[in-house]
Amino acid sequence: MEREQEATLTHIVVLPYPLQGHINPMLQFSKRLATKGLKVTLLTPKSIVESTKGQASSVTFEPIDDDDDSGELIAAETMEAFDERFKAMFSHGLGGLIEKNNSYGYATKLVVYDCILPWAVDIAKQHGIGAAPFITQSCTIAAIYYNLYQERFTLPLQEPEMSLPSLPLLRMDDMPSIISQPASYPFILKVCLEMYHNFHEVNWVFCNSFDKLEEEVVSWISSQWPIKNIGPTIPSMYLDKRLKDDKNYDLSLFKPNVDACMKWLDSKDTSTIVYVSFGSLAALGEEQMEELALGLKRSNKYFLWVVRETETKKLPTNFIKETTERGLVVSWCPQLEVLSHKAVGCFVTHCGWNSTLEALSLGVPMVTMPQWTDQTTNSKFVMDVWKVGIRVKADAKGMVTKEEIELCINEAMGEKREELKRNATKWKKLANEALDEGGSSDKNINEFVEKIMHT
Ligand code: UDP
Repeated sequence: MEREQEATLTHIVVLPYPLQGHINPMLQFSKRLATKGLKVTLLTPKSIVESTKGQASSVTFEPIDDDDDSGELIAAETMEAFDERFKAMFSHGLGGLIEKNNSYGYATKLVVYDCILPWAVDIAKQHGIGAAPFITQSCTIAAIYYNLYQERFTLPLQEPEMSLPSLPLLRMDDMPSIISQPASYPFILKVCLEMYHNFHEVNWVFCNSFDKLEEEVVSWISSQWPIKNIGPTIPSMYLDKRLKDDKNYDLSLFKPNVDACMKWLDSKDTSTIVYVSFGSLAALGEEQMEELALGLKRSNKYFLWVVRETETKKLPTNFIKETTERGLVVSWCPQLEVLSHKAVGCFVTHCGWNSTLEALSLGVPMVTMPQWTDQTTNSKFVMDVWKVGIRVKADAKGMVTKEEIELCINEAMGEKREELKRNATKWKKLANEALDEGGSSDKNINEFVEKIMHT
């Protein structure tokens, strides 16, 4: 059979958890597979699919009715309650899609599922097909959780520092928050461990990273399960440029203020703006928000700050009015366009994994202000391993003061800038190489496509 014909007959179903930071990498991976000729269907809640407006046409979207018109899929209920509801809706939807495809002659060969949805493996099995998890965090994080799953250490941690295979020494505050404060996040901890129950049954474990970024830990994980790094999953036009139409993430849960942001950036000189964002979920306390606002003001730099609509009430009174000369506050921005703009000098970030990879891949120095989950560990790597950023220090009450924020911004934009930029440029090059023809991630994707076509 011709290769092309085989490829189009090979159908993959992709199931992300419906959060921005999970949809982005899984949709991007889907696009890469689709350009290799596979037929890829991505399952998402109907309320999210409606925001695509027909983009990303190389991937088919299968909307699952989620009875939600609010646009705030998760905000209204606890994570546990949402998880239950999501499982009920989507396990039914996944089974239905596999059956529908069978009846149309598009038999599904594999379900690629968000690793935090391990029940997808059971549904795939019921239909006689395979499943492969997709990790939306770093290999380092996956390795830390796996060490806990295998009981190489137990909680609560007894020592202030921990040494794990192939990882640098990690202090308590470098650890993911579900490990340093397990009592505060029992549900997330449970989810992060349960995902490993069926790793022994899968042929591939995809991860949004690239081999050179986490060389040692990738080599250790490879001895445990069939890891395949396929990242960074950033739209191709920002990296290898081989997918001509791939300029955006295509599926945004928030509406970006594109014109306002780009006009503001265009009006400024090279490397003069501080870009600030805490992603789609993190919510600073009111006092911390005020310190950050005052820190930005004191730094005397231009700033572009993403404050989501639900967070704006925490801004100090008159802050926006008083800083219009220096700052622009928006509720969401086109982050990739912003990070790749020459006017951006540094990125004050919560260190969500996507934001971290985006800054690394676009060569932007960071000031890290991690909040929870994996962000603390990502921040440790940004500062001490990849050496592309500075981490703010919290005081004894856990507050990052305005003085500290001012200091770190001024260092990143001033005396440390050259060194950080030099390192960031190195990682940008390596990220590009991973996805170029014959690069490590490109090879992993090609090997997978060849294998899945012939199974
Ligand atoms: N993002 C964006 N505009 C914004 C803020 C964030 O497009 O104003 C995107 C960003 O590029 C990234 C994602 O939202 O791809 C956030 O994912 P991340 O893992 O960094 O953080 P999370 O939201 O999961 O905490």
